[in-house]
Order: sequence, then structure tokens, then C-alpha cells
Amino acid sequence: MPVDATLPYDDQNIFAKILREEIPSKRVYEDDFAVAFHDINPQAPTHILVIPRGPYVSWDDFSARASDAEIAGFVRAVGKVARDNGLVAPGYRLLANTGVDAHQEVPHLHVHLFAGRQLGPMLA
Ligand code: AMP
Repeated sequence: MPVDATLPYDDQNIFAKILREEIPSKRVYEDDFAVAFHDINPQAPTHILVIPRGPYVSWDDFSARASDAEIAGFVRAVGKVARDNGLVAPGYRLLANTGVDAHQEVPHLHVHLFAGRQLGPMLA
């Protein structure tokens, strides 16, 4: 079910549990600001999710409330995950679904990183 990106943060969401390591994930990267792990239902040969450690519902919430250090740290982590996985030259796509119309399903900000095949034109 898509989630309303304006709701308060729910610390029982599945990515909060992954952050606390209460449920397993295939982590590929972590630092003070971000954790990255493989999507459980990959839509491309490489499909990684990068999430901030802080309690932010969505891109909207993060961009409004996170500190400059958190924003910089998160953006740098996304770029590092792509570089560390050799994705820059072949290319990759970033996506952050926000709210109901975008079909955001998990109410903790996550950036999808897709790569490993021709992704085609962006779909609206
Ligand atoms: P979105 O629709 O942008 O909210 O995307 C949510 C993504 O989370 C989907 O691509 C799911 O496959 C993925 N997902 C859901 N549960 C898990 C999980 N436990 N571990 C890894 N990825 C998950």
C-alpha cells in the first residue's frame, strides 16, 4: 500500500527494523549517515536501496528537516555506493518515490539505485 509522505515517522517501519538490524538485509555499505542494501525484489541486475540513518519519512521530510551534515553525508554515501560498485561508467539511475501518487511503500526515505542493463527512457 502506498504511504502518505506527510505522516509522522513510524519507527516500526521495515527499514527502521533493518537499520536496527532486527531483520536481515544484504548490506553493501554503511557509514555514520547512510546504510545501503540490496532490494528484496530487484527490478534491475543491480538494485540497491540507500537510506539515511535518521528518522525521515520521505525525500520531502528529509529535505525539510535533516541537517546540512546529514544531507551532505547521505548524498555522498549514494555516490560512493555507485562508485564502489563500478556503476559510474556504465551508468545508473536514482529514484526516490515520495507519497501516494509515486507509490512509495515504505515510510522511511530510500533512494533506489538501478543499474546493470539498458534502463531505457525515464517513465513518468
Ligand atoms: P518504494 O515503492 O519506493 O517505497 O520501494 C520500496 C522498495 O522496498 C521495493 O522495491 C521493495 O522491493 C523493497 N523492500 C521491501 N521490503 C524489503 C526488505 N525487507 N529488504 C529489502 N528491500 C525491501
